[in-house]
Amino acid sequence: MKWKTKAILGLSFLTTFFSRYNFWRKKEIGVSVLLYHRLSKQKTYTNLDKFSIDSKNFYYHMDYLKQMGYKTVNVENLEECEGKCVCITFDDGYKDNMYAYPVLKKYGYTATFFVVTDWIEKGKSPCGLKMMSWEDIKFLKKSGFEIGSHSLSHKKLPLLSIEDKKKELSNSKKIIEEKIKSPVFSFSYPYGAWDDESKKTVKEYYKKALVIKQKTYIKNDDAFLVPRAVMRKNTDMVDFYLLLTRGRSRI
Ligand SMILES: [Zn+2]
Repeated sequence: MKWKTKAILGLSFLTTFFSRYNFWRKKEIGVSVLLYHRLSKQKTYTNLDKFSIDSKNFYYHMDYLKQMGYKTVNVENLEECEGKCVCITFDDGYKDNMYAYPVLKKYGYTATFFVVTDWIEKGKSPCGLKMMSWEDIKFLKKSGFEIGSHSLSHKKLPLLSIEDKKKELSNSKKIIEEKIKSPVFSFSYPYGAWDDESKKTVKEYYKKALVIKQKTYIKNDDAFLVPRAVMRKNTDMVDFYLLLTRGRSRI
């Protein structure tokens, strides 16, 4: 092989590797906010499968955090965490999220669960997945976890009228508060979708709101656009390390 061919091959390997694993990014000092959806290998043949991780991997993630000396914090108290700190969140409220309970307890960790109230009421998601019951949610709250709202019906807020936005935000909050007998402070935008009007309306009811963005949360960042990294089926331990230290793992 000619040296020119070798050089081109070497360069393309390095480009591919460092696009996939962004070791070159500067280390960030903020809190990594992680977004989990499902902890299951069961397929739905929908887009959601990309965001379903094996429950074993969730265990490895928590074990790694403990070994590396990370603490966890709920969304509500995000600013109060000093040092190596991670915020673990779950969206939608799938029944398989209950697998997280013994794992989190084992390591003394906390998490915030964002639920879609219509889906909880019905007991299943639009693609037929079993949801947590209100008993599960009350149990998590009593065990020290935070419960947040992920809206009434999981619609993209920017597509709704102001009246419908208010309904999605205030009714879901009211329903959860009545069930858990405790105030709800945090909201997670369905699909991470927001615009100025959604953000302004969220501020009327909540103290914090979360979007989807690979970046760490640094004190005094916008509390209504808290960035979260989505955990995917193909998020491996190298990605996990990069998300914790750089807030982003790939281009
Ligand atoms: Zn969702």
